[in-house]
Amino acid sequence: MSRSVSRVLVVGGGTAGSVATLAMRRNGIDVVLAERQCAWPTLGHGITLQGNALKALEQVGVVEDILKAGYPWDHVQFRTAGGDLISDMAMPPMGGDDLPPGMGSMRFHLQRVLSTAVDASGADVRMDLCVSGIEDDSSADAVLVTFSDGSKDQFDLVVGADGIRSTVRRLIGIEAEPQSVGMSIFRMEGPRPDLMTCSQIFYGGPRYKAGFTPTSPDRMYAYIIDDDRPLSDYGPRSLPEVMSERAEGYHGLWDDIRAAMGPDTLVDYRTLEALRIDGPWHRGRVLLIGDAAHACPPMLAQGAAMATEDGAVLGELLSQDHAVETLLDLFMQRRRARAEMVVENSVQLARWELAPETPGADPAALMGHSMAVLAQPF
Ligand SMILES: Cc1cc2nc3c(=O)[nH]c(=O)nc-3n(C[C@H](O)[C@H](O)[C@H](O)COP(=O)(O)OP(=O)(O)OC[C@H]3O[C@@H](n4cnc5c(N)ncnc54)[C@H](O)[C@@H]3O)c2cc1C
Repeated sequence: MSRSVSRVLVVGGGTAGSVATLAMRRNGIDVVLAERQCAWPTLGHGITLQGNALKALEQVGVVEDILKAGYPWDHVQFRTAGGDLISDMAMPPMGGDDLPPGMGSMRFHLQRVLSTAVDASGADVRMDLCVSGIEDDSSADAVLVTFSDGSKDQFDLVVGADGIRSTVRRLIGIEAEPQSVGMSIFRMEGPRPDLMTCSQIFYGGPRYKAGFTPTSPDRMYAYIIDDDRPLSDYGPRSLPEVMSERAEGYHGLWDDIRAAMGPDTLVDYRTLEALRIDGPWHRGRVLLIGDAAHACPPMLAQGAAMATEDGAVLGELLSQDHAVETLLDLFMQRRRARAEMVVENSVQLARWELAPETPGADPAALMGHSMAVLAQPF
């Protein structure tokens, strides 16, 4: 008996697209994955993966390799800018008791594990390829796709997993633009000081917030959340010089981090953004997932977690062989409220960091509530 969806195009091979591909391949669906980049980066910054992300990664069979490439931890410390401990919070096991509550990883390790598994899954991976046209052919119950190399192909379903500036979103006429939340982030990676064994967040300093997370026995990543300003405001200095200067005023393990910074330290600077879509994340037989559908500033460190959950849920629903319309409705029922809660609460936390004196501001309560919701199965 033929299935209503047996051949899928996934556009974008980041976290959302890779997890969706793995989940679909486990259910015997033919997947073509088109990725714009020619090759995966071998350098980059860290990421926090909380228990719910690890659960989704477990469902697609990669969690052990992800854990091997990272640094698991089970508590987060909040500190003053001077380095004094304010509180030590045990992280809830959001992926269940058999998985760590959280871990730090380097993004390129995460991507390497995912792309190795995608290659081994039998998906047809086409690097250096974009989508330039999407046409819903209702007479054939299919989507006709034109690629950037001029080739055309037909699919039962197209999954736009191409990030916050999604081309697929534009091609299907869903209007949504990333919005700055009024802050920027400096990120760097460097050697892990021996005493760094969990994520630490520093408040009350010269910037909005600073923090770090161990990502392996040897490495860690650190960040400073700052005003959203053009880099030219800082004059003709290198990014490591600017970040090192912005880190002055944070102490404790920040003293070790700053001492290890040099001209070769990899530093990234970007505006923090959010994206929401009014209405469904699909048109016809085309569905958006991950940051293409909902993106948040990293106040809850949940963007990639939502992307992994989207991919795992899509694979699960496709295994049940629903008609496409039903499939897309069920996907929205499972995903919308949870992913939008993460966006709304992350944006609210950012607002309160910008204006801590706001009446009623209670970031600890909002974080606790968000984690309690996310500890429920997705
Ligand atoms: C500063 C910062 C810190 C963060 N920290 C965390 C954290 O600690 N924990 C967490 O869970 N989340 C975090 N996030 C969020 C997380 O990075 C994103 O939510 C996640 O990467 C989204 O994955 P994605 O696959 O949807 O999109 P992306 O990771 O953006 O992947 C999209 C992919 O599509 C490809 N692509 C783009 N356009 C096309 C095209 N036209 N055709 C083909 N391919 C295309 C891209 O090359 C890319 O490979 C953070 C985000 C930021 C900005």
